[in-house]
Amino acid sequence: MIDRAGVARRLEALRARIEAAGGDPEAVRIVAVTKELPADAALAALAAGLRDVGENRAQELLAKHDALGPRGGDAIWHFVGRLQTNKVRSLAPVVSFWHSVDRPSLVAELAHRAPGAAVLVQVNVSGETQKGGCPPADAAALVARARDAGLDVRGLMAVGPTGPPELARPGFRSLRGLADGLGLPERSMGMTDDLDVAVQEGATMIRVGRALFGSRPGRHAITAGGP
Ligand SMILES: *Cc1c(COP(=O)(O)O)cnc(C)c1O
Repeated sequence: MIDRAGVARRLEALRARIEAAGGDPEAVRIVAVTKELPADAALAALAAGLRDVGENRAQELLAKHDALGPRGGDAIWHFVGRLQTNKVRSLAPVVSFWHSVDRPSLVAELAHRAPGAAVLVQVNVSGETQKGGCPPADAAALVARARDAGLDVRGLMAVGPTGPPELARPGFRSLRGLADGLGLPERSMGMTDDLDVAVQEGATMIRVGRALFGSRPGRHAITAGGP
């Protein structure tokens, strides 16, 4: 069970962190990342007044969406993780916001299965090879391609490097510069550990799991117990 009062309390603390980093807590959009947690976590986020719920795996997102049924009526589902092209079709009826568009094949599949969808182009600004995202030098072309395909490109997304939060700053700053240069208003950057740096560098959306729900139990608990 998710402790709802705890989530509400952590949300207050999260808003204070946003404000301390120079952000407007009303304007920075908080995506509650419920991965590896029961569907009840999404309900707790909704009860606390959030609307945006994020998942990084297709099966888990769909299972949670189904588990919530009408109780999840207000939720806006965000897909935030690495996305396989063959998952787009099943996700399309449910997902409203796609954060991790990083290659032309994905643009084509989204344009086909989710015409006009709201997307962010993910850019690998940390240079870590294991992180998703297109190289910064390819971002402009991918944005143009997505626009040409009729997708609603809202902005750019990045995942910070592993390590101390301060390490994320140069990448977040370059994401901001790239987005500005392309005339894109949204910057999805910052997670529990590096959201302060992200907000300082102009995040408009942060994707937050542990700061809202506490530490995750790990995947075993989910595959065994299911949501
Ligand atoms: C897990 C995840 C998050 C949230 O991570 P926390 O550190 O728990 O805040 C954000 N974005 C992506 C892409 C994730 O996979």
